[in-house]
Amino acid sequence: MKTGSTHPLPGTGRVYLVGAGPGDPELLTLRAVRLLQQTEVIVYDHLVSSAVLDFVSPTAERIYAGKRRNEHTMRQEEINALLVKLAIEGKQVVRLKGGDPFIFGRGGEELQALAAHDIAFEVVPGVTAASGVSSYAGIPLTHRDYAQSCIFITGHLQDGSADLDWPSLVRPRQTVVIYMGLGGLSEICRQMMQHGAAPTLPIAVVQDGTITTQKVVTGTLADMPERVANAGLKSPCLTIIGEVVKLHEALAWFKPRPNATTA
Ligand code: SAH
Repeated sequence: MKTGSTHPLPGTGRVYLVGAGPGDPELLTLRAVRLLQQTEVIVYDHLVSSAVLDFVSPTAERIYAGKRRNEHTMRQEEINALLVKLAIEGKQVVRLKGGDPFIFGRGGEELQALAAHDIAFEVVPGVTAASGVSSYAGIPLTHRDYAQSCIFITGHLQDGSADLDWPSLVRPRQTVVIYMGLGGLSEICRQMMQHGAAPTLPIAVVQDGTITTQKVVTGTLADMPERVANAGLKSPCLTIIGEVVKLHEALAWFKPRPNATTA
């Protein structure tokens, strides 16, 4: 089978920025699987699931780049420099990132570093957490009865505070998806209510979406911080806010491990 439109010249390094999807390896693209099987070197992040890494060629060199919050295994500049160095050495490199590399993935920054050194690269999109996790939680992000728009934001900011555009987040008939939101969840719920959202607005937090340890906790802006604390959720978690969350009860189809779902 053809592997794609571009075939690197021998001896020329190239970096493939590849999205690994949210966890379930079945959500990898064909292009991603082919590249994982052929690559010489893989540089991957902590969000990449072990089931996805099972597809990596056994002969490939594996480099773990981090980074969990508070555990910055490699700084972003170090990762950029590593990719540049490997490509200059003539390697075919897969830079594998959770979800989609262009959505809260710093993929753009890495490509800028490569472009600055005239290094060839390609981007392989992945299923972003908002899409994969909401699908496996049975929460459509739009629905004609509930939401005509959907907004993706990141809730974890440099100084730990959540300095977001609150008026834009409380618009009616809109779904808000928050990446990295757990630390700031109480503040987000509080601010949304303060900016006019109903305390009864439904909200879901999904831990480990698309894999067997998936847990979905649902509630309202008013009671969610307490529910999440009681459920003892761990990272990674995705937060979905909006009327569409009501559909979870009827549409949840994915059956994770017994006892893993708290509703
Ligand atoms: N580029 C990634 C996002 C990186 S930011 C993407 O497109 O999905 C990391 C955040 O994504 C996590 O803090 C969490 O909010 C979310 N996330 C990624 N995978 C997830 C999963 N399997 N379950 C729940 N949240 C997930």
